[in-house]
Amino acid sequence: MKKIAILGSSGSIGLQTLDVVSKMKNVVNVVGLAVGFNIEILKSQIKKFKPEVVSVSNLIDAQKLKKWCILNKFRIDVHSGDTGLERLVTTSKIDTVVVALVGTVGLKSIIAAIKAKKNIAIANKEILVVAGNYIMNLANKNGVSILPIDSEHSAIFQCCINEKKSRIKKIILTASGGPFYRYNKDFSKITVEQALDHPTWKMGKKITIDSATLMNKGFESIEASILFGVPIDKIEIIIHPQSIVHSMVEYVDGSVIAQLSNHDMRLPIQYALTYPERLDSNIQTLDFAKIHKLEFYKPDFNKFPCLKLAYSVAKKGYTLLTTMNAANEVAVAAFLNKEIKFTDIFKIIDITIKSHRILKNVSLKTFFKVDSWAKKYARKIIDNHTYG
Ligand code: MG
Repeated sequence: MKKIAILGSSGSIGLQTLDVVSKMKNVVNVVGLAVGFNIEILKSQIKKFKPEVVSVSNLIDAQKLKKWCILNKFRIDVHSGDTGLERLVTTSKIDTVVVALVGTVGLKSIIAAIKAKKNIAIANKEILVVAGNYIMNLANKNGVSILPIDSEHSAIFQCCINEKKSRIKKIILTASGGPFYRYNKDFSKITVEQALDHPTWKMGKKITIDSATLMNKGFESIEASILFGVPIDKIEIIIHPQSIVHSMVEYVDGSVIAQLSNHDMRLPIQYALTYPERLDSNIQTLDFAKIHKLEFYKPDFNKFPCLKLAYSVAKKGYTLLTTMNAANEVAVAAFLNKEIKFTDIFKIIDITIKSHRILKNVSLKTFFKVDSWAKKYARKIIDNHTYG
């Protein structure tokens, strides 16, 4: 029996993880749940999954929830804030922590979890983009695994089983192309509603915008480079509108191994939870005679400057990655808030990056310092309209 905690249980991945768990009752047990502000969702999850420990963002919510738990006869430890997350992930019963938060909020708790020797099933790529090498080293030192939940990385992971990493020639990371892959009109006129309308995947807002700018694919390339120890120039992105081939690995002998399935996040989630086992699932299987064709195209780096930017930032590395991620977070939030145009997202990140001097001697403190500097800087650019 695996005993898990889910950080971000009210989000898209969190809800799908619980859906997977509810179908594997004798395999996975939910010990801990953490949400930000969606207390009502958390309450319904408490009723259904009966966790032993939960955490929410603020103290007032935690106090109210404590009373509710007592009233409803649930014996649960209720925590709050950053320290609450840390206490949750270090709970002795838990062996795997599913990290499904947005952005870098979970960085401290992941580190605490690794130090407490918990395996990590990771869905949010920002943490690996910002502090990937630090986390991988720490995981190695503590003998824990970092299991990918992202569909592409789960695919790559599955294509690498029993293979030597040194024999990988390249990783071929597939991309649906997002809603604007075939869009030929003015990108600056793209609305929030259009950008949120992703053709294949239903996801949270931040990642859906990242998918529309293809910054998400840039992040995923960096994530793959970190998780699989392959340099960024050995990672090739290919547009595959059907989203059936979730990624491929080419080996030195010319063999390409791919992982295919219908696009359903519950599959990579389940695999991360049951690895190294494979269990039955309710996911609809592929009917190749109905698929007819699988298409592959080169991405257009000029149409999607964020993707190009992510590659060049990845080559320089260190705190430039932190800066890019932070500026992107602020710019995407401003776009969702209708303060800036779709095309301004790139401009804001680009200006912020150009103003950053890379620091190579990186401690955790440096990450947080750079992160908060870049967020303030990007915000200032937006407020002063100095992005042209
Ligand atoms: Mg993905």
